Amino acid sequence: MTSRSHRGLRALALTAAVLAATITPVAAEPAQNPGGPCVQPDQNVSRASVAGYADVVTELDRIEHTSHGAVTVASAGTSGEGRQLLYATVGTGPKTFWLQARIHGDELHSTEAALQILRHLASGDPDARRIREALTVVVIPMYNPDGAEANIRQSTTPTRTDLNRDWENFVQRESVAFWKLWRATRPELALDMHHMSQAPVVNGTDDLNQFQIGARSIDPSRMTAEQWLTNRRMTMRSAEAIDRYGLANVAHYPVIDITNAALSRMLMSGTAPAGEQPVAVSPTKGAIFYEVRSVGQKSNGQLENLFRVPALAVLNAVADGTLGAQDVSGYGALPFASGQECGAH
Ligand SMILES: [Zn+2]
Repeated sequence: MTSRSHRGLRALALTAAVLAATITPVAAEPAQNPGGPCVQPDQNVSRASVAGYADVVTELDRIEHTSHGAVTVASAGTSGEGRQLLYATVGTGPKTFWLQARIHGDELHSTEAALQILRHLASGDPDARRIREALTVVVIPMYNPDGAEANIRQSTTPTRTDLNRDWENFVQRESVAFWKLWRATRPELALDMHHMSQAPVVNGTDDLNQFQIGARSIDPSRMTAEQWLTNRRMTMRSAEAIDRYGLANVAHYPVIDITNAALSRMLMSGTAPAGEQPVAVSPTKGAIFYEVRSVGQKSNGQLENLFRVPALAVLNAVADGTLGAQDVSGYGALPFASGQECGAH
C-alpha cells in the first residue's frame, strides 16, 4: 500500500481523535445543568441525604417522644422483608385525613416531606393546633420500605408488584396491612405523594412543569358527585398554594383510570383482601395525589416544599372549614403537560 493510504488512515485517526476531544467533554456534562429540566440517564443522584428506613424509624421515635403526647407511632404490619409498616397519628379531631408517601420506593423526597409535615403538625404553631383539634391525621412516611431500601418502584418480592396497583388482588402484605388500616381509621380525605421521573413542560409553553396534580386516579364517573367535587376542591386549593408562593408551574397529571390504585379503591371500595369483606360504603370523600419533579439533591429543599406547602394548605382548609367553599371553576383551565419526554425535542 502506498504512503498516501497511510496518510489517509492517519488523517482519519486524527479526525477521530479531534472528534473525540471535541465530543467527550460535552458528553461528560449533562446537557442541562443539575436543577434544569432533565434528569440525565447517567446523572448521579445521591441518596445519602435522603431518608432511608432506619432514618424513618429514628425520626418517628424522636417526634413521638418530643411531641408531649400529640403524636403516637404504630405499625400497620410488616413488609415482605419483615420491616415495620410505620405510621404516625397526630390530632384528635373527628375527621381523619390520610397522608401517604413513597408507595413507590424510588420516589425519594416524599418521605422527608411527610416527616416535615408531621413535625409541623406536632408543633405549637397555632395552625397546627387548629388542625389537631379538627382532624386526626394519619401520616405514612414510607408505605413501601422494601422498595425504598432497594431504590426500586415496586415490591422486592419475586412478583415485583407495584403496590399502587394492588388494591384489587392484594398479593402484597403491605397492601393488606394498609387496607386494614384504612378500614379501621376511615379517612374522609386522602393525599398520596409521588415523584415524576422526568419533568416535562407545560403544554404550549417552554415552562418547566415541576408539579402535577392528580385529581382523578379513576374516571370521575366511578366517583360520587361529592367525591369528584371534593377532589377538585383539594386540587384547586393545592394549585393556589403552589401559585401563591411561586413554587412551580402546575399541570394536570395525564388522564388515567386505574381502578387498582390505593386511592382509587379508597374512593370506590368494592374490593378486600382474602377473607375480608369490602367496606360497604366508602368513608373516603376525597383522594388526590401529587407528582413532584425528581432531580438530584441540589434542590432537595425545593422538592420538599412542593409537597409540604400544598399539603398544609389543604390540611388548613379542611381544619378551618374553607375547603367546602373552595372555587373549582378554574379546574378545567389548568393546563396539561407536554407528553414529550424531557429533552427529547
Ligand atoms: Zn409514584
